[in-house]
Amino acid sequence: MELLIKESARLIKESKFTIAFTGAGISVESGIPPFRGEHGLWNKYTPEVLDLSYYLNHSTECWEYIREIFYDFFADAHPNKAHFVLAEMEASGVLNSVITQNIDNLHFEAGNKVVHEFHGNSKKLKCLKCDRVYGADEFDFANIPPKCVDDGEILKPDFIFFGEGIPQEAYANSFADAEKAEVCIIIGSTGEVTPASYVPRTAKQAGATIIEINPEESSFTSGVTDIHLKGKASEVLEQLAKHLF
Ligand code: NAD
Repeated sequence: MELLIKESARLIKESKFTIAFTGAGISVESGIPPFRGEHGLWNKYTPEVLDLSYYLNHSTECWEYIREIFYDFFADAHPNKAHFVLAEMEASGVLNSVITQNIDNLHFEAGNKVVHEFHGNSKKLKCLKCDRVYGADEFDFANIPPKCVDDGEILKPDFIFFGEGIPQEAYANSFADAEKAEVCIIIGSTGEVTPASYVPRTAKQAGATIIEINPEESSFTSGVTDIHLKGKASEVLEQLAKHLF
């Protein structure tokens, strides 16, 4: 493992453009469970509450669950060591961007500035009628659903629901960076969600070396990944940082 970490650090230092592609796994050590797997959120909740067409017809019912998952349960989550190492990497010039599937805002909270949020962000709420965007912290969620002060429309969390498209700017920036990448670090993603999983695959096809950090194997591990650093994101990134700075 030590040799693989050293080799990864060397590749990152030599790379002229490095991206990190993150999934739910990087936030597990912040206390946010992934959706899938043994302790996944979908064992407790039905994905229907995040399906756009169901939500549009049952907004008030869906908001009960949305509040519980994203504004009660996720509210106390803070960035962990893995998020902070990525922020340090960006600040020191060895990481160009983070492309995240996560909606928890933790990369920004850790200090990263260039973050392409492929699935949006739960810390913002949007009016589907007038497009006004609010900070989630403007609401206390005692009364749900939250409503637009301009037109009374029910606000929707500004992350994508099942059945919605990827935000255009994040999509374009993510694939543009994947094309440029010489190194792509995949952290904590099964690679089962499309089109997000095409981002590291695009980087690979464009010639990037793929470093994967995950305690398990994913759908990237055989076929896409060049170096698998098998372990928890915080522990592996802490080791990597020792050879980077
Ligand atoms: P996933 O839930 O499909 O898989 C999580 C992956 O993380 C697994 O491969 C697992 O082995 C790995 N993992 C678990 N603990 C880890 C650790 N400590 N360090 C590193 N890796 C670890 O995740 P996904 O591929 O991101 O897809 C899930 C979808 O659900 C995404 O689209 C995302 O938008 C959404 N989601 C977001 C959050 C969040 O914002 N934090 C949480 C749950 C789900």
